[in-house]
Amino acid sequence: MKQAVYFEELEEDVLGCRLCPHHCRIEPGKTGICLARKNMRGMLYSSNYGELTSFAIDPVEKKPLYHFYPGSEILSVGSWGCNLFCQFCQNWEISKSRPKIIRRVDPEQLVEIALENDSFGIAFTYNEPIVSFEFLLDTSRAASKEGIISLMVTNGVIEEEPLELLVQSVRAMNIDLKGWKEDFYKEHIGVDKRHVLRTIEKAVRSGVHVELTTLIIPGLNDSTDDMIQEAQWIASLSEDIPLHITRYFPNYKTEIPPTPPEAIFRLCSTARQYLNHVYAGNISASETGDTKCVECGALLIKRRGYSVTIGELDDEGRCKLCGKNAAVVV
Ligand code: SF4
Repeated sequence: MKQAVYFEELEEDVLGCRLCPHHCRIEPGKTGICLARKNMRGMLYSSNYGELTSFAIDPVEKKPLYHFYPGSEILSVGSWGCNLFCQFCQNWEISKSRPKIIRRVDPEQLVEIALENDSFGIAFTYNEPIVSFEFLLDTSRAASKEGIISLMVTNGVIEEEPLELLVQSVRAMNIDLKGWKEDFYKEHIGVDKRHVLRTIEKAVRSGVHVELTTLIIPGLNDSTDDMIQEAQWIASLSEDIPLHITRYFPNYKTEIPPTPPEAIFRLCSTARQYLNHVYAGNISASETGDTKCVECGALLIKRRGYSVTIGELDDEGRCKLCGKNAAVVV
């Protein structure tokens, strides 16, 4: 448990959390809607500080990050809590309650574990890292001192001031862009989409390596028109931002049947009209995860599941055949 950074006193002992746009009003002894920020006698605490519920050495491709040290493994950790309300949450066991804690660590211990495992960094993933803001920041700074990086897989729902600190500390982000329609975000996610767009834009302009993921749920966010608008908006930032269009499976409170693979392929080919690197996620078909040179078509990175083979990609992230920059951090 550690004192939170972003909050203010609204009235005696009643606090307003200012970490994310929900701006929870938190009475003494209560938590905000993410469950992870608690008012204890008029002081706000991050109650999941250093509490790990998941711990693994994963391929970086599993985050998914396809253009960031491809073929590398990274120490990946998750805690508990989330600031969104998705009815189709794929990780609800750790996002909607405080499950069994498998390990308690301080930032320096976690960095030490990463070094012992020859990991090039630490990935904050599985649940929403924003609700562990202080631990994420402290660990990222400790990691940086030891010459390793930190990255996060996030919904991007955070206030502007903490976001400023985050983009200075984290080297890569996979950000969920869960759909395009405002109504979809409001009704099914419980937040205004513009907060997510702001985070994506800020991260890209700050030089953070950014990849995006859209989970496609049949009937909710699978229209071609939505994908055209989403891809056009992403391309307005950079055509090189990788987009992962991912298949959904029923989970938590949603019983909608799984996304048909054809819908994923349709949306991928729509997005490819605007973006250079679009990948199908949660699909076993071959070649949907390969990276090809946008200039000459050479196979730069071949992926089959989490098996990665570097092809015509040089050590500086360029195509060996034509020299085109492939927007890959190597
Ligand atoms: S971080 Fe948690 S407590 Fe703070 S405003 Fe967001 S949901 Fe509420």
